[in-house]
Parts: sequence; structure tokens; C-alpha cells
Amino acid sequence: MPDIVLTYTDAARAVRKEVERVLRHKPAVEQVPLLAAFHRVLAEPILADRDQPPFPRSTRDGFACRAADIDGAKPLQIVGQLKAGDVWKGVPLAAGEAIEIMTGAPVPTGADCVVMVEHIKTNEDTLLVDSDRIVEPGENIVPAGAEAKSGSVIVSAGTRLAASHIAAAAACGYAIVPVYVRPRVAILATGDELVPVDHTPLTHQIRNSNSYSLAAQTKLTGAQPVILPVATDDKPEIESAIRSASGCDLLLLSGGVSMGKYDFVEQALMSLGAEFLFTGAKIQPGRPVVFGKLPQQYFFGLPGNPVSTMVTFLLFAQPLIAAFSGETHPGLRFMLARLAHDHRVKPGLTRFLPARVDFNIAAPQAAIISWQGSGDLASTAGANGFVVIPSDAEKLAAGDCVSVLLV
Ligand code: AMP
Ligand code: MG
Repeated sequence: MPDIVLTYTDAARAVRKEVERVLRHKPAVEQVPLLAAFHRVLAEPILADRDQPPFPRSTRDGFACRAADIDGAKPLQIVGQLKAGDVWKGVPLAAGEAIEIMTGAPVPTGADCVVMVEHIKTNEDTLLVDSDRIVEPGENIVPAGAEAKSGSVIVSAGTRLAASHIAAAAACGYAIVPVYVRPRVAILATGDELVPVDHTPLTHQIRNSNSYSLAAQTKLTGAQPVILPVATDDKPEIESAIRSASGCDLLLLSGGVSMGKYDFVEQALMSLGAEFLFTGAKIQPGRPVVFGKLPQQYFFGLPGNPVSTMVTFLLFAQPLIAAFSGETHPGLRFMLARLAHDHRVKPGLTRFLPARVDFNIAAPQAAIISWQGSGDLASTAGANGFVVIPSDAEKLAAGDCVSVLLV
């Protein structure tokens, strides 16, 4: 069995290399209704179908006029009114004239500024601009095409579509959106002790939670999980389960990758022709994580301890799945936070410790949760991130800036 144990950085680099390779081949494309495209990956750019805005748009409720005419002592003549949805059909605005205009209405020809309604006084059909107001040409007007020119790219292909992208697509008339077909990710939990979630386990048995955490994380990454039946710690059974996943883009195994006598996952992968890119990483949790290629697909052998399974998914599987989705910038999500307390660790491993991060303050704070190690799902359920402790750190103090891996 190969023994390729990498530092976190090198393991991440090994995955990144395969991410680049995967991104060279574009997935198949399907056309879906606009809202169904939410959180999918865009396959062709969204283009502006006309200038945006299509007309010089007033950004305020007020009066359209010529900036040069504004003189605190001389009233302007109000010659009409325009609301959003109207268009000025009269003659161009002449010197000394003003038109009452609402936000979103097209500014009539001849006017070069909009004075906010808050800054004028009206008297029947005339108005006076407050004497202390200096109004520049262009004020409160977005010129036609200033936001985007007709034909320009508004959202690039390879973007995972967020609400703002869906709004931009709607504005450009995309009732149907081309997106990449979602990759299929096979999930295979292994272990003699595992029973299904709806079974009452005997004292020595545990319920299979990893298939569900991995399926949920896979969905969050935008892919389709395919949960396979649990395999026992039996090499031929694991082999045949792996074979049954051959139609999927990627295979996630959980359990059976440690040094135990009944850890057969690597052996099974080996007899099916696997090439191993790493068989361990100097991280905690998740040290025994395995990554490689079978003739038909990539695989990750994730350690069975539930928190290790989730962390190694986030660190290594997620970027590769995102690449299979066609996402051009499949990145991990890290943020900076201040540590809420002192923390001591043994150096040597990059650690990802479950933490509660308070985001709702200007300088986010992270408190590491006390836990019983990588099998402690109960404590980790209270975490919303993992504080990253560099491999050479020994002592961190309250207030130190730390990186947090977001879930
Ligand atoms: P292993 O990686 O097979 O040595 O398993 C490590 C620990 O994770 C053991 O305590 C297992 O019982 C537990 N474990 C393995 N697979 C699962 C699973 N699918 N769901 C929950 N716990 C698991
Ligand atoms: Mg096991």
C-alpha cells in the first residue's frame, strides 16, 4: 500500500491540480427556467440585451432642469410631470423650465440634472432651488448605458448563480438559462457497526450519519448525491460497491481508511486499479484521508469519524465537486476572526477546530468549542466554522487573528 502523507498545503495543492484538469472539460449543458437556475452554474454568459439603463434614468424624486439655470433667486417654470413608466412627449426642456420627475423615470431631453424634492420650494407652477444648493450637471441621473452596454457580459459562464445573478438575468430577459448538468457524486459508507437511520441500534452499533452529512454537503456544493447501500468491512463487498458507482463523476467513501485490521477500503481501491495521490494529510481532524483516481473516476476515502468526514469533505472533496459542476472559481470559504480566548496546541498538524463564530460584529470573534475529538458530532453541531490552527503554532492568545473555514 503506498504511503503518501502530505502537509495540508501539499494535499490541497494536489487536489487543486486535479481541479485544473477537470475544469478543462466542460460539463454537458441543459436549459432550465430562470428560477430553477438559482445556485446552478451558468454555462454561457448572460449578456445585456440593451443598454442599461436604456434611457437616462432619474435616481431621485425631484425636478429635472438645467444645472446652469439654477439661481437661488430666480424661479424655474414647472412645465409638466413624469413618473416611472412615462416618457416625455413634449418639446425638449427649454431654459428656465423644470419638469417634476419621479425615481426611475426617463429624464427628458434638454434637462441635465435632477434636483431632489427635498431641496426646493414650490409655489403653484414655479419652484426655487434652496440657495445653499450647488447642483452639478449630471446630478441624480444615470446616463443611458452607464451601467452596461448592450451586448456586454453581465454574468460570466462558470459562475454559480446567486440571487443577484438571477436578478441580472431577469433584467436581461433570460426566462430560460443555460446551466451545466449537475455532477453525480456516489456516497459509500463502510463499517460493520453501521445501521440505518431508522433502526434502533444495539449498544455496540451506531447509526450511519456520514452518508447523510456527505449527501447534504454534496447538495450544498450543487451536485447530486447518490447514496449507495452501506458496505460491511469486507474487501470483496467494498469492491463490488465501488464498481456499482462507476456511472458517477466522483466517489466518496467513508470509514475503513485507517490502520485497523478491518480497514479494507484502500486495498479494495488498489485491486480495482486505483492510483493514489495521497493516503494521509497532516491535519486534525481527518489525518487518514485518501485521494486518488480509479480508471473511471476520482475518489476520496474519508475517515469515518463524523467530524473528520465533514472537514475532509470541505477541504478536499468540495473544490473537486465544484470543478465537476463547471464552477470556474471553486474555492474554500475562509474568513478572518479574532480568537475569543487563549488556546494551546501541540504543533505538527494543521488543525481545523470546531468553533462558534459571531459574525454580527465588526470584528468577528471565534470561540473554539470544547469537544471529545473527531467523533463528537454532538459538540460539533453547535459549530458554524472551523478555526484553522497552523501546524507550527503552539500558543494562541485571545484577540489573535485566526482563519476560519466556513461550513
Ligand atoms: P473508521 O474510519 O472506519 O475507523 O471509523 C472511525 C469511527 O467513525 C468509528 O468510531 C466508526 O464507528 C465511525 N463511523 C464510521 N463510519 C461512520 C458512519 N457512516 N456514520 C457514523 N459514524 C461512522
Ligand atoms: Mg471502520
